[in-house]
Amino acid sequence: MRISRRASDLATSSTLALDGRVKALIAGGADVVNMAVGEPNFPAPAAAAAAAIAKIESGHVRYTPAAGTPELRRALAEHLTATREHPFAPEHVVVCHSGKHALSGALLCLVEPGDDVLVPLPAWVSYVELIRLAGGRPVEIAPIGGARPDLAAIRAAITPATRGILLNTPNNPSGYVWTRDEVRELSALAIEHDLWILSDEIYRRLIFDDTTFTSPLAFAAELPGLAERVVIIDGASKSFAMTGYRIGFAAGPPDLIAAITRLHSQTTGSPNAVSMAAYEAVLREEPPEVEAMRAEYAARRALLLAGLTELGLEYVRPDGAFYAFPDVRPYCDERGAAGFCEDLLDEVGLALVPGDAFCLEGYVRLSYALSMERVEEALVRLGRFLESRRAAT
Ligand code: GLU
Repeated sequence: MRISRRASDLATSSTLALDGRVKALIAGGADVVNMAVGEPNFPAPAAAAAAAIAKIESGHVRYTPAAGTPELRRALAEHLTATREHPFAPEHVVVCHSGKHALSGALLCLVEPGDDVLVPLPAWVSYVELIRLAGGRPVEIAPIGGARPDLAAIRAAITPATRGILLNTPNNPSGYVWTRDEVRELSALAIEHDLWILSDEIYRRLIFDDTTFTSPLAFAAELPGLAERVVIIDGASKSFAMTGYRIGFAAGPPDLIAAITRLHSQTTGSPNAVSMAAYEAVLREEPPEVEAMRAEYAARRALLLAGLTELGLEYVRPDGAFYAFPDVRPYCDERGAAGFCEDLLDEVGLALVPGDAFCLEGYVRLSYALSMERVEEALVRLGRFLESRRAAT
């Protein structure tokens, strides 16, 4: 069968592919610490499970409006108003099957063939592929020190073909949280050059120490015209540990939301009714599990960062998400970080994602969404591996 160029050119999600490979190894009896996938190892909050079960038992599990139930859209608008320093109404929100679904829908509705979209690196695996799928050209902008946005380089990369910017704070894979000044500067640039900002805020709730999260919408009052060009992507997967529920949303100007809704009405119908009930339950009142999970991530993060520092690895301090992204260039051969990760898996049974997956060679992503014991074990294995590399040179 002849496969379309569009699909042939599309790469498989490398994080999901690697996770599948590692899980198969573990199922086959291999002793592997899986730090590859960014998936919480906690169950979803009890309130989510209870609402999902009640929904199923009610028997009213039917198609819903393509944009999601009015109740969930209202709950999301209230949640956004409370968390983004900007007022939202239900018509600013479309419920989607996940953050990824919201992102692909937004890109398909915003990007014309030949448009440039700026992607500050490192960037989560799906951004560049989804921009290409929409017919656009991802323009990758190298960071400072492996994680910090280079705003001068972002400004210099803008051309008449540039239409938008992909912002992701806290960042996957680096955990870097953009400062308020950085987000403000980017927002001002968007206005100056008539660009949209697609702001992936899926890790917003996972912030550590005294760091604060800033959405570009925080500057909407100060920068007229900004609210009309910002689209927020978020969902239940990370902060609520609801990955398998597959539920998220896009929020932005009503004309874009209506366009995404039209697209999804044709491609995916309506979002999952059971998951929408579960999502609404955790949005109405934040369940205690959410802060408990965040506190547990904070403890794991402290352990991991202390371990990486002790091993002599350099990294930009990750103040959000559940990742660290150290520089492993001193330990790489000509195969780069991909070879480093291959050998690490083969020799000591530790699975990490090479930076190439995030368009940045020479770094590796460690996910600490796993127990303290496994984080400790991962550090022991990484230490052993680095030691053998040092001994070999
Ligand atoms: N977002 C997670 C990750 O980066 C899950 C896998 C994926 O969708 O890429 O590992």
